[in-house]
Amino acid sequence: MNAIELNARASATFGAKLDQTIALLKQAAQDYAPLSAGEAPLVSQASSLGAEDMVITHLINSLGLNIGIFVLETGQLHEQTLALLARLQASSRAKVKVFKPRAEAVLQFVAREGGQAMYQSIELRKACCQIRKMEPLERALAGKEAWITGLRREQSGARAEVPQVDHSDARRVKFNPLADWTWGDVWHFIGLHQIDYNPLHDHFYPSIGCAPCTRAVSLGEDFRSGRWWWEDEAAKECGLHVVQSDSLEKATA
Ligand code: SF4
Repeated sequence: MNAIELNARASATFGAKLDQTIALLKQAAQDYAPLSAGEAPLVSQASSLGAEDMVITHLINSLGLNIGIFVLETGQLHEQTLALLARLQASSRAKVKVFKPRAEAVLQFVAREGGQAMYQSIELRKACCQIRKMEPLERALAGKEAWITGLRREQSGARAEVPQVDHSDARRVKFNPLADWTWGDVWHFIGLHQIDYNPLHDHFYPSIGCAPCTRAVSLGEDFRSGRWWWEDEAAKECGLHVVQSDSLEKATA
């Protein structure tokens, strides 16, 4: 059984949710259009290449929206994820930009702390996320006034309050157009439109991040339980989606 067969189950209000998602994406493209012809739009989708993000990318492309897409290639992604990235770059109408960590910072960190540092302490795990994700994210978002994510309220307790439009970060607006979608909605839409997805989803990886920090989950386990599974629940966000106030330091704390 693949992930579509296993999960596709549209909720009763799916049609209304989809309409709202489309309206939000159109609003983002309109409100954050390029300042002049030939320039990049002021809004970008941050894609982890997970199921939700593939839905959003499909909508951006099929609606012909002028919204950029970026992927953080941490240097620790599964080969299946890298293969999906290559397919997406080849097929996407919207440009897919890839941001990698600074090689020197990675080399120094691994030389100092070792290749398994993320398992030693939360501080070292966050330091790795800072180098491989947060710093590249800052570069990806430089000059952007808005970004789009695939966050859903259902994903975890920490995400239960995710709004569709988040103004909590003074630097830029965050659109979460799938905030009220269920996992069943996501797979219903993927199946309906035959959207390409990471085959790891067929092997019980609901949430896919870096290879050392992601594992398959068992039936009934929490959606995010396969991420940083050796840590306490409260420490599980990587910093990308922690409520931000005025500094990156606070965001990753
Ligand atoms: S998820 Fe794991 S491997 Fe990836 S940046 Fe964070 S600690 Fe490093």
